[in-house]
Amino acid sequence: MALLTTTTIGSLSRFDQDLPRSIDEAIDFQRQHRLDILSDGEQRTDMVSYFAEAFEGLGVESDTPVVTGKIALKNGPESFSKVQDLKYIRSKYPDLKIKTAITGPTTLGMTCGSRKIRSYYKNIMDFRLYEDISVALAPIAKAIVDRGAYLQLDEPFLSQGYRDLDKRVELLDRIVDGLPRERVSTHVCGFIGGHGVMNHLLRLKSVSTLSFAFAGRIEKPNIEHISRDAFESNGKKLGAGCISVTPLAESDVNTPEQVASKLKEIAGRVGRENIAYAHPDCGMRATNKSLVPIILRNMRAGVDLFG
Ligand SMILES: [Zn+2]
Repeated sequence: MALLTTTTIGSLSRFDQDLPRSIDEAIDFQRQHRLDILSDGEQRTDMVSYFAEAFEGLGVESDTPVVTGKIALKNGPESFSKVQDLKYIRSKYPDLKIKTAITGPTTLGMTCGSRKIRSYYKNIMDFRLYEDISVALAPIAKAIVDRGAYLQLDEPFLSQGYRDLDKRVELLDRIVDGLPRERVSTHVCGFIGGHGVMNHLLRLKSVSTLSFAFAGRIEKPNIEHISRDAFESNGKKLGAGCISVTPLAESDVNTPEQVASKLKEIAGRVGRENIAYAHPDCGMRATNKSLVPIILRNMRAGVDLFG
């Protein structure tokens, strides 16, 4: 049987001051670690700023995000920074498989609206804020998939169980409605066993792959909340977080044997053929920089060992 496909959740710490050079280095770094599906490494580090640039109704004042009015995409999706970065990668490395991540409406709205909402929306719980963000994200999602990339909708906050959780998950379907579902995944961080979040995610129609963490201390119990039956009956594949991204020292990094054993445990629950790819538990911007190469090396070795 072919080895499992490998990828990352996306973010890596910035490699260089110069953006194109930094993206080049992020790509090289991932290739050196023999990853199959590569990301831009989120080298534009300030997510709120690049969304504020692209969206009406969103600003940054004294380093604080402010919602200033109704959210809408200002220009066409082609000028959006992540689409620009994808175009750059595509032109330079046309043969690589690329996955581009964009922040989902709940996480983006909570991040931008939690400090100051000046007008239009009543407050942070005004659901129109999230609907408008979804409408603005849809053309961006299409532009990414149209350029041949996989699309990952990042919704780290969804596991926290907000009001309107079912509707919040449904917004993801609206963003990618009409796109080829096998190209689209959603990544949710943390413990996904609460608030019925798993059942809502399984019902997504236009998202094929659900990506979760299983290796970190808080995330280990996630294994209890996935099953072959649930994934197959809902036409879902699993993105399997198989190595922790929060070690404090080299001695804390999961070993290849631990990675292989984690993958065995996951495959035992969901079926090996239902694993879309193996990846580290989460993005690695906050991970101790010197440990990132060791994490990727051990993940690669663990995937090879799993066979
Ligand atoms: Zn995550």
